[in-house]
Amino acid sequence: MNAPETTLSNPLLQPWTAPHGLPPFDAIKPEHFAPAFEVAMREHRAELDAIASQGEAPTFDNTVARLDASGRLMARLDGVFHNLCASETSDALQAAQRELAQPMAAHSNAIYLNGPLFARLDELHGRRASLGLVAERRRLLEQLHSDFVRAGARLAGTDRERFAQLNERLAALMTTFGQNVLADEAAYRLTLATEADMAGLPAFVRDAARQAAADRGLSGAVITLSRSLIVPFLTFSDRRDLREAAWRAWTTRGEHDGPTDNRLVIREILELRAEQASLLGYTSYAEYALANSMARTHDSVMRLLDDVWSRALPALERERAELAGLMKEQGVTHAIEPWDWRYWAEQVRQRRYAIDDAEVKPYFPLERMVAAAFDCAERLFGVRFVKRDGLKLYHPDVNAYEVRARDGSLVGVFLHDNFARPSKRSGAWMSQYRQQTKNGGAVTPIVVNNNNFAKSAPGQPTLLSFDDVRTLFHEFGHGLHGLLSDVGFERLSGTNVLRDFVELPSQLFEHWTTEPEVLRRHARHVVTGEPIADALIERLKRARRFGQAFETVRYTASALTDMAVHALPRSQVPADPVAFEAQVLRERGLPSGVGVNHRFAHFQHLFYGAGYAAGYYVYLWAEVLDADAFDAFTEAGSPFDAAVAQRLLKHIYAAGDSVEPGATYEAFRGRAARIEAMLEKKGLLQPA
Ligand SMILES: [Zn+2]
Repeated sequence: MNAPETTLSNPLLQPWTAPHGLPPFDAIKPEHFAPAFEVAMREHRAELDAIASQGEAPTFDNTVARLDASGRLMARLDGVFHNLCASETSDALQAAQRELAQPMAAHSNAIYLNGPLFARLDELHGRRASLGLVAERRRLLEQLHSDFVRAGARLAGTDRERFAQLNERLAALMTTFGQNVLADEAAYRLTLATEADMAGLPAFVRDAARQAAADRGLSGAVITLSRSLIVPFLTFSDRRDLREAAWRAWTTRGEHDGPTDNRLVIREILELRAEQASLLGYTSYAEYALANSMARTHDSVMRLLDDVWSRALPALERERAELAGLMKEQGVTHAIEPWDWRYWAEQVRQRRYAIDDAEVKPYFPLERMVAAAFDCAERLFGVRFVKRDGLKLYHPDVNAYEVRARDGSLVGVFLHDNFARPSKRSGAWMSQYRQQTKNGGAVTPIVVNNNNFAKSAPGQPTLLSFDDVRTLFHEFGHGLHGLLSDVGFERLSGTNVLRDFVELPSQLFEHWTTEPEVLRRHARHVVTGEPIADALIERLKRARRFGQAFETVRYTASALTDMAVHALPRSQVPADPVAFEAQVLRERGLPSGVGVNHRFAHFQHLFYGAGYAAGYYVYLWAEVLDADAFDAFTEAGSPFDAAVAQRLLKHIYAAGDSVEPGATYEAFRGRAARIEAMLEKKGLLQPA
């Protein structure tokens, strides 16, 4: 072990001298991470020990502010490591990830179970009302204190040991859960051997199926259980027998006898979570999880879910009637099964709204849609995105922008990584290399948006579907939440908000994709330059509304089972969670032929990580907020009303978690959020 030499030869541990403090991407190698993390963890623990062991009595500055400012090297390394693992991974990086999982978990325990440090925090927290703190500082103290308490800092003796043990066992179980789902997905493929097997599939599905075969070293075409293949297959395939086979494989992931069976894994996770909650004094895991949310209580979540559920069921029957009508016209006599619904919905959609990707996509070239998103941000918030060439980034497809305020000052750096590639995980997400803070000097954020758009052939423009445009704007909304953050402390910065608030800035930003004013300006035909016709905009909007009941029922059903199973007290955790799930759906009256978004045995939101356990409801919760928030612009008469935009910036996009979310929302809207705008948007206000 020769630490100085390691430090000198490791670019991660050298000063980062690239413009704006970007990581030294061109010099980083996977083997640099483990030794760099070792140094960073040691440094972080030393910082914490120095705070804990100082002679002076605890004050906000010598304890709370210093705690918030600690671990910067660790955070910097973490940012680059996790972003590269997600966007540009390799076997060597994946090996580093496995190697580092345990030390990182131990590091987290070392922070939150540092007794003397917590004692100082706890002492300050006990007399927080008399410390004379401004609101943001008091919020910081409360949130940091809550982080420690929720991580077991108050426990003593055997309880403390047991809690730490449960953490480790849960981490292992959740990893197993995810790997079992992955294994079941990897093991399955539906071979499309003949032209007859391809009946009904549009070119993009055929291409993707051939690519999936090629990726596996096979000739021909296969359907796998990846969402981006199975959903289009269920939507377009004329072959009912193949749809049923694929659907059955998809919905039984994690539920097969043998080494990948998740049923016992779920049961143990639920038992251990209930035990953890009870150690912390909560009657159920849901009560523990919701204590740190905007909703706060099980009752307030259930009021929302019950209301939406009771409205969505009759709306679903209206959609079913449309499907049944068309089936009858076509002489189809069988009942609608879950493997039929998407297919017949698509038939209705094509006939009623005449939406054809080939007609729509030429109006949505990626480059123009990126410009549209930037233009909306500038018109709303006065920030400009200035392309910055010549930087050394981690992949040639990544674009970098300096984000500038009206006065020209730097707000942050935005990286846009839009294309799918084998080294990138699927989906779309926002993350950060560096978070905004003023604690210890002003730090500007470095934010990245990742998408997985299929890259066009060289020289051809990449064209997006309307759904892709929505995804682009959604992630950009998260991006703005990170970039526009203007708070004093990192713990309260940007997207570090409560989990049922975090989708507000992203879902809200989607609203501008359907504004005629935006579309006429930016959605221009890639060849002719003609703006998109108002009639087509109208058809796109109406087509989007059709099928909302189907999506809402499937989503809400999964949110209901999540909440039901996590709200059980420890003594009532079911021996057979899958049977419990079926019972909940039966009692709730889930209609036949619909299905749910996720069954327990592969419900990764709940069991591959704990972030959404007793929290699948958060998307709907945020939808109440985003629909109501956008109505403020509608009421003001313009989607770019300056006064509304100013309040939106101040109280939502710039505020981070510096103010309790309910209060900051009311400061923006002048009142609490109302549910009607969301119901209207989903078409759930119509009479039954
Ligand atoms: Zn999101």
